[in-house]
Amino acid sequence: MFFGFFGRRSAAGPSRAQLLEQAARMPLLAGLSADESVRLAALAGVFARKKVFSGAAGLTVTPAMVASVTLQMALPVMNLGKEALDGWQEIVLYPSAFVVRDHWMEPGGVVHEGDSVLIGQARLDGPVILSWPDVKRSSGRDGWNVVIHEIAHKLDMLNGDANGFPPLHKGMSREQWSHDWAAAYADFQQQLEREGEMAEEGWLDPYAAESPAEFFAVLSEAFFECPQGLAEDYPAVYRQLVAFYRQDTLARLSGLE
Ligand SMILES: [Zn+2]
Repeated sequence: MFFGFFGRRSAAGPSRAQLLEQAARMPLLAGLSADESVRLAALAGVFARKKVFSGAAGLTVTPAMVASVTLQMALPVMNLGKEALDGWQEIVLYPSAFVVRDHWMEPGGVVHEGDSVLIGQARLDGPVILSWPDVKRSSGRDGWNVVIHEIAHKLDMLNGDANGFPPLHKGMSREQWSHDWAAAYADFQQQLEREGEMAEEGWLDPYAAESPAEFFAVLSEAFFECPQGLAEDYPAVYRQLVAFYRQDTLARLSGLE
């Protein structure tokens, strides 16, 4: 349906120098060693060449936009290999939040249809769709990152529907993963129920309680941007994410402003 809205594909991707220069200015990437930054920029360059970028609703995609998206998407997979994001091609950028037509089923089986306003969407059938202003806003370190969120969904989808249970690496226990994530999810839901309207804004966005898939994606955002609260409140889940992404973000980010 929305393929009709797609604009022109950008002609040229970002240069290596542009990727390195933009990486150096992203607070999200502070804490990476010089070697890691070079490796991350190289991986971003691969995604810039391999993925097809389209501007929707009149947006012209520039090399700087491609650099911003690919640097952020390279961070969660920098120790997983570029193959982790194989199997889909297209990244669509919108000039603002965008509307998608959704179907959902109520308990009892009644199917509803309606419009949702989104800033990002990872589709099981292919594209990742992002609002460009929100991509730009994501490169700080405040626990909120739409690119990492949608990439986490994409990794989760490597074994079917997003459900908070991505394919694990050799040596990781499926039982332990289930146990640790289910315990943290139940705890967070209880916390929201207990506090209700009184809930103070903590490090974890209440949207995480929407489903196990959203819990995994939102905690992945926190993991890469400000892992302190996550490591304190849900240390077992923090360790699962260290094993899954093969990065110790707490060690990397501690000591930075
Ligand atoms: Zn999501």
